[in-house]
Amino acid sequence: MSVNQHTHAGPPYGQPQPGYQGYQQPAYGGQPLPGVPHAQYGAYNGPMPGYQQPVPPQGYFPSLGFPSKGSPVSLNSDTSLAPNFIGKFRALPTSGAPPPASGTSLPSGHQGYSQFGQGDVQNGIPTSTAPMQRPPASQPFLPGSAPAPVSQPSTFQQYGPPPSSVQQLSNHMAGMTIGSTSISAPPPAGLGYGPPTSVPPVSGSFSATGSGLYTPYTASQGPPPPSVPQGLPLAQPPFSGQPVPTQRLPTEVPGFAPPPSSTGIGPSSYPPSTGAPRLPPMPGPPLSGQTVAGPPMSQPNHVSSPPPPSTLSGPHPGPPMSGLHGPPPPTHPPQPGYQMQQNGSFGQVRGPQPNYGGAYPGTPNYGSQPGPPPPKRLDPDSIPSPIQVIEDDRSNRGSEPFVTGVRGQVPPLVTTNFLVKDQGNASPRYIRCTSYNIPCTSDMAKQSQVPLAAVIKPLATLPPEETLPYLVDHGESGPVRCNRCKAYMCPFMQFIEGGRRFQCCFCSCVTEVPAHYFQHLDHTGKRVDFYDRPELSLGSYEFLATVDYCKNNKFPSPPAFIFMIDVSYNAVKSGLVRLICEELKSILDYLPREGNMEESAIRVGFVTYNKVLHFYNVKSSLAQPQMMVVSDVADMFVPLLDGFLVNVNESRTVIASLLDQIPEMFADTRETETVFGPVIQAGLEALKAAECAGKLFIFHTSLPIAEAPGKLKNRDDKKLINTDKEKALFQPQTSFYNNLAKDCVAQGCCVDLFLFPNQYLDVATLGVVTYQTGGSIYKYAYFQLETDQDRFLNDLRRDVQKEVGFDAVMRVRTSTGIRATDFFGAFYMSNTTDVEMAGLDCDKTITVEFKHDDKLSEDSGALLQCALLYTSCAGQRRLRIHNLSLNCCTQLADLYRNCETDTLINYLAKYAYRGVLNSPVKAVRDSLINQCAQILACYRKNCASPSSAGQLILPECMKLLPVYLNCVLKSDVLQPGPEVTTDDRAYIRQLVTSMDVAETNVFFYPRLLPLTKADVDSDSLPAAIRNSEERLSKGDIYLLENGLNIFVWVGVNVQQGLIQNLFGVSSFSQISNTLSTLPVLENPFSKKVRSIIDMLHLQRSRYMKLIIVKQEDKLEMLFKHFLVEDKSLTGGASYVDFLCHMHKEIRQLLS
Ligand SMILES: [Zn+2]
Repeated sequence: MSVNQHTHAGPPYGQPQPGYQGYQQPAYGGQPLPGVPHAQYGAYNGPMPGYQQPVPPQGYFPSLGFPSKGSPVSLNSDTSLAPNFIGKFRALPTSGAPPPASGTSLPSGHQGYSQFGQGDVQNGIPTSTAPMQRPPASQPFLPGSAPAPVSQPSTFQQYGPPPSSVQQLSNHMAGMTIGSTSISAPPPAGLGYGPPTSVPPVSGSFSATGSGLYTPYTASQGPPPPSVPQGLPLAQPPFSGQPVPTQRLPTEVPGFAPPPSSTGIGPSSYPPSTGAPRLPPMPGPPLSGQTVAGPPMSQPNHVSSPPPPSTLSGPHPGPPMSGLHGPPPPTHPPQPGYQMQQNGSFGQVRGPQPNYGGAYPGTPNYGSQPGPPPPKRLDPDSIPSPIQVIEDDRSNRGSEPFVTGVRGQVPPLVTTNFLVKDQGNASPRYIRCTSYNIPCTSDMAKQSQVPLAAVIKPLATLPPEETLPYLVDHGESGPVRCNRCKAYMCPFMQFIEGGRRFQCCFCSCVTEVPAHYFQHLDHTGKRVDFYDRPELSLGSYEFLATVDYCKNNKFPSPPAFIFMIDVSYNAVKSGLVRLICEELKSILDYLPREGNMEESAIRVGFVTYNKVLHFYNVKSSLAQPQMMVVSDVADMFVPLLDGFLVNVNESRTVIASLLDQIPEMFADTRETETVFGPVIQAGLEALKAAECAGKLFIFHTSLPIAEAPGKLKNRDDKKLINTDKEKALFQPQTSFYNNLAKDCVAQGCCVDLFLFPNQYLDVATLGVVTYQTGGSIYKYAYFQLETDQDRFLNDLRRDVQKEVGFDAVMRVRTSTGIRATDFFGAFYMSNTTDVEMAGLDCDKTITVEFKHDDKLSEDSGALLQCALLYTSCAGQRRLRIHNLSLNCCTQLADLYRNCETDTLINYLAKYAYRGVLNSPVKAVRDSLINQCAQILACYRKNCASPSSAGQLILPECMKLLPVYLNCVLKSDVLQPGPEVTTDDRAYIRQLVTSMDVAETNVFFYPRLLPLTKADVDSDSLPAAIRNSEERLSKGDIYLLENGLNIFVWVGVNVQQGLIQNLFGVSSFSQISNTLSTLPVLENPFSKKVRSIIDMLHLQRSRYMKLIIVKQEDKLEMLFKHFLVEDKSLTGGASYVDFLCHMHKEIRQLLS
């Protein structure tokens, strides 16, 4: 079915959108995860080095049956009487011009987006400082302001429209604390902690045109009273939007600075008064700011405290139930330098670690000798706990929907399970920000060093309870937009002059309302059709695009999928080729389709390759598929057009026959060499010839050393690690693939890469096209059928089925005062504003950084509009729009109160992972540490109580910044251990760059669950514990997941009955650590554990690799790598040590 010439009959707003649920939404498990299921594959995919690449056995003969270049051959026959012989493929007119020379200017496809930003003025009037006044009419979202019931999906009413004021109030409550640390003296002018580590903001030199178009309100459209903050007069409780001075106390870390009088060694106690928190222990509320009177700055900051009584006795501190850590424990006197860490015995409170004398990072060995407990220094239970923060947010914010009607609301954490109700701002599943209250001036922003960034997932999957974006059709003239900045109609546009014109909320320009779009205003100035139009009342929606939004002014054809299978010796011998072919037979029935369509519009094609390429004609009229071999890979072309890309149903028999025959045809191959560049070129040429966008699924096993364009050599060199040349390991070894990527993007050719290496294959180079086309990369090192096929097949199925848009261009517009300056993710950019992706799927995230180019105002706030132009899987051209309004502040405290650390870490990790391309890894790490120290020092200096000099005081919203930052610093990309390969690092670097906030959160701070504490009678997960060895008990079994791997760790003293129930063997020693799945046993414990694992798989976009780890077994070292609060084997600091280090850095900045 071709929909590309349809008139635009979008479903009427209000109907649950047909045509949009092309594939099943993954079930939602107990955990939240905006965005959905998620991911896997780790750096550690199997046996460690030393594996020999198999060589073909002697006595193999070359397969003789392959025809020479260009000959089509019936696969079933050796005869040369193949039908449809095509003599000179080169001459085929439709195969198009020869591949474009690399490095030339952009292909014509890039010129097609005539309305998508041509002549855009990004941010409008440069000089505009007039607040954008917004009358009530354009204000969202009173209770009951949801679109009229008749047009409202039932889920919208599910929670009832809570009165906005109540919602608002509760949100404030959630952020409130008891106590009164006075936050917020205005920042001293001229404070500065040095230049930002990232790109300096561009100064506001904006060549806007038409800035004189600003039209003031007419009398009947009076602006809102100036006293009303946020322009939400009717919905606001009196205090809303105003800084609440007592909100969100800072976190002071007890024990961080010893009292002056303390000397000596040993657990002598402080007078309670010095260690006592200012706050009484309060169960429940979000705020855990302990304040501990601090010692003078001159004191060493190495103090420890015994754990609070509740956690003293056992190895399992268990999830504390309140936001407080309890009364601050007595602290210990300072130690000169850190004491030896004791890791040998579980259940001990961890002591200081060896030789951490202040230089960061400490490098001593991981102490594991048992010994007498060392003098304690800093109690891990007294420093901010990620588990506690996650638990608190869950209990405080997980119970009611997050309603987006109020500007600048900080959403619940990604680890909290919550529903979203769109009332005018995009759901946090689509956009999350580092701060929801951004500084009014660039000076303030620089002073704080808090990066202003948004993490955007434009096609995020929603849970079934939430409503997909509605599709809006504005008719032949296309979506209504601002004349000047081209922003799309949205809830923040303000209608004036009785509805005849509207004023742009981004650039203030006034635009005529097209006649067909005219509507009267009610007495409040609101259009009377306000609730009937998603683009006026919702934060996210879609527009049907007109032909003007299409390449070459032509509606697109439905996309195609091309499966390209490496059939060299390794691929065949491992059983991979047979596995892929078997799977494709069934998977082709699950290609993405638009909801009510009977079958997918996507056509498919097949290629196999080693040193040469084999194309297959699977035209439905053929009795058997035909193969055509192209052995001249130097100048790739596609030898057939008709019959290469086909409809699955029509060609079902021929395709099945082909997939049966491929494994047989190559069963005896002895070809070990492969090409790679020509494979992508072939797919690209095929899509060009078919004049469509599409995706290549390439299954590849080895470094492409065969003579061909894009040929690579093995340049791996671990000696470069920790040198200035280390960056070369992350850079592609040739520019060939960059140029190829550019051509692919122009055609909308997205490349998904499945790698099965037995040795180095240069992921950094092979991944370039995947990365720049918005594709996905999967890696299965030392692939073995028995252990890896489930994981691979699950990944493949999901990858083939998931929602994906093609030929996508994303533009982020902002209101005057800030603009998008930097972008992180898997895409290509040919200019400074448009993010281009040949393909964009529901898992891909783009992180966008903003800088000031003018002043912002507290009254008008700041607006973002993300517009994604893309082709749906049925070939329909659409625009998906996400809007988000943020608050602006003149007080630094407001910034710090509205930050989101998880998002900040997402940005910082991506920033650092890009940095390694150009700078020594150590410089990147230092820069991260420095930036965070500046962020915290600025808070300390300007927002915290002046009486607490010398203490480590963390902003409540950022109290996890040190622990999470330390995880980023210790990650394989920035600080690799000896077992981490160069390919692993390149792979992880690419993965992280496209991760959303939930994924980076669990990737850097894995989730650790005590399985033996699970309630087998409930659906819930056991409460997570902190990632430290001292939290593990020898008598228990734990699960650790990071989105790529699942480890199941078994203590040496686990009861035999539990081992029998989970593994089906009678003793610890009999547990096999090569299991890739748990045995299916009929008992409650086995069922519970397997259901937990299934649930985790559903939450991740990749199928995680299961690794069984027995305590004291060799593999335990691998597992310990993920206990991120501990000192790492590679010299990464423990959390406690890093916190001390950060404190020192901050004090230096302040002194
Ligand atoms: Zn505008």
